[in-house]
Amino acid sequence: MSETLGLQPFKPYKPAKNEVYMNEKQLEHFESILNNWKYSLMEEVDRTVNHMKDEAANFPDLSDRATQEEEFNLALRARDRERKLIHKINQTLETIQSQDYGFCDSCGVEIGIRRLEARPTATQCIDCKTLAEIKEKQLFN
Ligand SMILES: [Zn+2]
Repeated sequence: MSETLGLQPFKPYKPAKNEVYMNEKQLEHFESILNNWKYSLMEEVDRTVNHMKDEAANFPDLSDRATQEEEFNLALRARDRERKLIHKINQTLETIQSQDYGFCDSCGVEIGIRRLEARPTATQCIDCKTLAEIKEKQLFN
């Protein structure tokens, strides 16, 4: 899914027995995951922009313009998705700074290390997320 587009591989966190949820070490773990992810997306955005500049210089022929435009549109949409993700990652990094990271926005329970590793920008526990998705489906059916 595009929600984790560009997420870099990392070593899963192994909490010690009785380790406090979202202690300094866990917050650092997720901060580094989010930062690596953000940098890989930022590089990707740069690559897209450079690629488009190269392409623009190499396609003087009119007959190729249509194909080129289509490619540009796709690239722009991809860049837009990456920008939105970067924004979401920045918001998530702020919750790490304020130590609010890892708790459900809706009910306040621990989201859980494994779920956060699968989706580091998750703001809801699996129950609230599922409920929200059901409600959304009902709304649009
Ligand atoms: Zn919840």
